[in-house]
Amino acid sequence: MRDFSSDLSALALNTATLGHNLDGYGAGWPVERVIDACAERGFAGLVFWRREIAASAQTIGERVRANGMKVVGLCRTPYIVGATAPPNLDEARGSIDMAAALGTDIVTIVTGGTEPGTRGVAESQLLLVERVAELAEYAADRGVNLALEPLNPMFGGNRTCLFTVAEAIRICEQTGAPNVGVAVDVYHVWWDTTLRQTLQAAAEPRIFGYHLCDWLADTGDMLLDRGMMGDGVADLKNIRRAVESAGYEGACEVEIFSAADWWQRDPGEVLDRIVERFRTLC
Ligand code: ZN
Repeated sequence: MRDFSSDLSALALNTATLGHNLDGYGAGWPVERVIDACAERGFAGLVFWRREIAASAQTIGERVRANGMKVVGLCRTPYIVGATAPPNLDEARGSIDMAAALGTDIVTIVTGGTEPGTRGVAESQLLLVERVAELAEYAADRGVNLALEPLNPMFGGNRTCLFTVAEAIRICEQTGAPNVGVAVDVYHVWWDTTLRQTLQAAAEPRIFGYHLCDWLADTGDMLLDRGMMGDGVADLKNIRRAVESAGYEGACEVEIFSAADWWQRDPGEVLDRIVERFRTLC
């Protein structure tokens, strides 16, 4: 397992951690300031959201690289199944184009929930396989990989039809596309005691991303009360051990949605705390 105590070469910031993904939250730093602040602290990479990139993908990607960092990924396609998914995949293809312009090879997919007129998730997952396979072909032509992110089961219904890493790996295999993999997020998998076994049993390495935060024992909001690493009950080192023993050597992306706590603080303080916790607890 990698030793991060004096090595930040895997540390990446998902910019949502500074509250930039939702109106009215966070200090509102422009993306350039976020890039500079991460570079100053020795971060190795950033993950952006589409709304902050707009038409500036190329310029932003260049600024990240000029600062000695990497664009680790783009969050995310719109939902591709479920009641609120757009009627076609044009916007999803647009997010793949945006990733290519940013100079990153990863786009995350949060699937969307249960298809209208169906119950459970089985039919939604069948449709998901079809749509992911279609997008994978488009992405492959642009050098982009797709990372399916299973979500904690409480997000079923309107946000996801994928609840476990095991299911996500099965969907990857069913698409038959080598550029489809899984994003493992501590928030969504911390409870899964079969994680290590599932990852070891996968026919090929499929982990395209690893997201860090913590699960607060008394969480106050299922979406916007994620904890800073070390403030909760997730066994961070053990989860990383499972991910790395399955061959993952990529970035550890800190992704903390925290409306009442971290989004209220000075972004500089948040970034400093991340570096400290990453070195000692992750
Ligand atoms: Zn995530």
